[in-house]
Amino acid sequence: PHAGRVAWITGSTSGIGLAVARHLASEGAAIALHGQAAASAETDALVREIAQTHGVPVRHYGLDLRDGSAIAPLAQRIAAEMGAIDILVNNAGMQHVSPLLEFPAGKWDELLAVNLSAPFHAIQACAPQMLERGWGRIINIASVSGLVGVARKPAYVASKHGLIGLTKSVALEFATTPVTCNAICPGWVLTPLVQRQIDALAAREGLDADAAARQLLGAKQPSQAFVTVEQVAALAGFLASEQAAQVRGAHWNMDGGFAAA
Ligand code: NAD
Repeated sequence: PHAGRVAWITGSTSGIGLAVARHLASEGAAIALHGQAAASAETDALVREIAQTHGVPVRHYGLDLRDGSAIAPLAQRIAAEMGAIDILVNNAGMQHVSPLLEFPAGKWDELLAVNLSAPFHAIQACAPQMLERGWGRIINIASVSGLVGVARKPAYVASKHGLIGLTKSVALEFATTPVTCNAICPGWVLTPLVQRQIDALAAREGLDADAAARQLLGAKQPSQAFVTVEQVAALAGFLASEQAAQVRGAHWNMDGGFAAA
């Protein structure tokens, strides 16, 4: 369904973003992969693998999203090299866990820059061509932490609540156009971002990795099972589809019941 379309997925060299990139490639979209670091043997291999598996153009772009002023120029470069961006998935995100009273102010600024300001800059850069060309999908990977509070994650929770607010605002502004904007709110998904939290918990409590993972899920995720990256990618695929044309400003949770509790 996306043959001839271009998708830019931020933070797509691992985890959820990579699964979304693979899913959209399987539906025919050309893929702008993006990660924080410059190209490497690993990203070259990913580019080749996705291009060969799905027969679509794939390129890798490295940019540290903490530099907000570099985001519009990157969007322009992608559009010049691959074609106008039709699907923007704001997926890149970082976590920092610390009690509020010890939370480093610099981390707060960094986290808000990556998780909230970068999506704003990317939307501002990509939306004009979507509106001009009469089709567009903006999908923001928020979190269940955008719906409920979590102790010791003040910046992450604030950034994800903010991202849902941005999603609603953009959706309303474009409500009469063929450009939609929605958010996805995953619960615990086993990716490098969560593995680091499991490792920290294991070290802190003297647990093995399995026990730490069970404790992480046990506390918050009623299903006691991780969401998979493929499941999140399938939901992003639906939000990018024609059938989702009237899904606007939604924040859709996929969280094993996390937000229902
Ligand atoms: P991940 O660590 O595998 O992926 C994060 C991606 O963001 C990486 O590609 C990384 O390069 C990129 N990124 C981080 N900081 C960056 C920076 N400064 N500049 C450019 N890119 C940067 O983790 P993931 O779990 O796949 O996370 C993807 C998104 O899903 C994040 O927004 C995260 O908050 C969200 N999320 C994850 C979970 C979960 O349980 N894993 C749950 C809810 C929401």
